[in-house]
Amino acid sequence: SLLDDECDYLFKTVLIGDSAVGKSNLLSRFAKDEFHLDSKPTIGVEFAYRNIKVGDKMVKAQIWDTAGQERVTFENLRKWLHELREYGNRDMVIVLVGNKTDLVESREVEVRDGQSLAQVEDLCFMETSAKENLNVEDAFLQMITKIFEIA
Ligand code: GDP
Repeated sequence: SLLDDECDYLFKTVLIGDSAVGKSNLLSRFAKDEFHLDSKPTIGVEFAYRNIKVGDKMVKAQIWDTAGQERVTFENLRKWLHELREYGNRDMVIVLVGNKTDLVESREVEVRDGQSLAQVEDLCFMETSAKENLNVEDAFLQMITKIFEIA
């Protein structure tokens, strides 16, 4: 079994989004506390695990990283959401993540645009920096907490 004795739950998570937005680094930051400046593009899918305590429960988070080719990020979100809702599990939790908040001078998406998309689409929203390790853990925690709420 994938679930070891110390874990009460196994949660499966998939990171999707356009190429180079930082999915692999969000995964490596969360799973291994590592950041890579020149990370190689993901070929196919990769995954990692991390055990995380939520309240009195131990959750094994299995996180899948996917390869994306596209490069227009925010504009593509509706397409990603459409695919998720068409092919995804019915009771899934979606967290919209805006990464690279450390790039203050070259911000491409305003916070309020992320917030309003999340509101319209009924998603959780979080801004992160995998590089500076800002909110990465919180984004995953928010997702895990939300899964407990709907379970
Ligand atoms: P992916 O294709 O979505 O998996 O993106 P990667 O994780 O491979 O990251 C693409 C590039 O963006 C790499 O050069 C990373 O070092 C960089 N990167 C990822 N996250 C951040 C971040 O939070 N801040 C900054 N400044 N760069 C980041």
